[in-house]
Amino acid sequence: MLREVTGAMVVEQTNRPLTTTKHPRKTEKFGSGKDEHILCRVCGDKSSGFHYGVFSCEGCKGFFRRTVRQKVEYKPCENPKGCLIMRISRNRCQYCRLQKCLAVGMSHEAVRLGRCPKKDRPSKSCFMYMPSNGTFYLDRQVRTEQLVLTVHDAYRKASTMYEEFAMRINPHLQNIIRSEDDVRTLYLRYLPSTVRFITSFAREIPLFKSLPHEDQKILVKASILESSAIYDSCNVELDGEGWTNNKLGFAIPKDSFEYIGIIGQLFLTLRKVIEKIQRHEYTEVELSLMCALVLFCPDRAGLSSKILLENMESDIAVALKYQLLLNHGDGCLSFARAVEVLTSLRDTATRFLDDLLNAQVEMDQSS
Ligand SMILES: [Zn+2]
Ligand SMILES: [Zn+2]
Repeated sequence: MLREVTGAMVVEQTNRPLTTTKHPRKTEKFGSGKDEHILCRVCGDKSSGFHYGVFSCEGCKGFFRRTVRQKVEYKPCENPKGCLIMRISRNRCQYCRLQKCLAVGMSHEAVRLGRCPKKDRPSKSCFMYMPSNGTFYLDRQVRTEQLVLTVHDAYRKASTMYEEFAMRINPHLQNIIRSEDDVRTLYLRYLPSTVRFITSFAREIPLFKSLPHEDQKILVKASILESSAIYDSCNVELDGEGWTNNKLGFAIPKDSFEYIGIIGQLFLTLRKVIEKIQRHEYTEVELSLMCALVLFCPDRAGLSSKILLENMESDIAVALKYQLLLNHGDGCLSFARAVEVLTSLRDTATRFLDDLLNAQVEMDQSS
């Protein structure tokens, strides 16, 4: 089944218009080819050149110029985590748009140079390719951006649910898991919080709600471990070869993994994948898309909406690739790394999910 997921993404890389795998012809200047462009670092639209030290679109260039020249101070954003700035959402919050401009390195001093210094030149993989029919491209981009906004929003709401659950556990009461007896605490905290997270995430995505109830159950159950590892990558500290989850108030010291049975092996395996996720420094929006990819996986056994899910998976893969390109500047490499992470997660779930769920059922029955 892994091969199928990865396969879908490979098709994405080779057949789809929004791909970054080809290289621009050497004779063409950056962004001058008909079917290629560099993305605006602020909003992901087609950039019109190097403005204020950054490749940006006319819209963001104008916005930054007006803001700086007129010394505008925007009312701070009410959203504590800030807004996601994309082409279709860039006009909704000027405060966050300015923050994004500054975060990607726009500065008034860099202004009039106009030309891009050699060191800042984008690598060839920074180009997006579009089909010659521009309208099609725009429709596609709007659709992709809407998907990104929906998934990201769902992820944030699910995080809030998780946090609320975690708050009910006394976070100051840190449980150290050292023996099989301690594992009960872990089951009581880890699995319920995880199920809560993925369920609320799924429910916020309209397409999920339109699936048959049976399919919904299969998708949620199958993705519990994979999505929790992605989400937990922000909550877990892996210092000193142990595992500390401050939100859920438990820690597994490095020398305890071998004494806590199957759960020890599971966390030891997850540890390696989470290390990778943390190393790649994915943004919140990228993590949300990775969660969506494991949720809308068309190759779980027993599904009836396979085609619909295959299309959804492919749309999410495009969205993820687009975000990786925008945020890391090396779409293909980052995408390949993300696929590698997802593949390792799938392996882990194949190995441990059934055992974990069975152990939980036994635990529930004995309590
Ligand atoms: Zn822009
Ligand atoms: Zn905002």
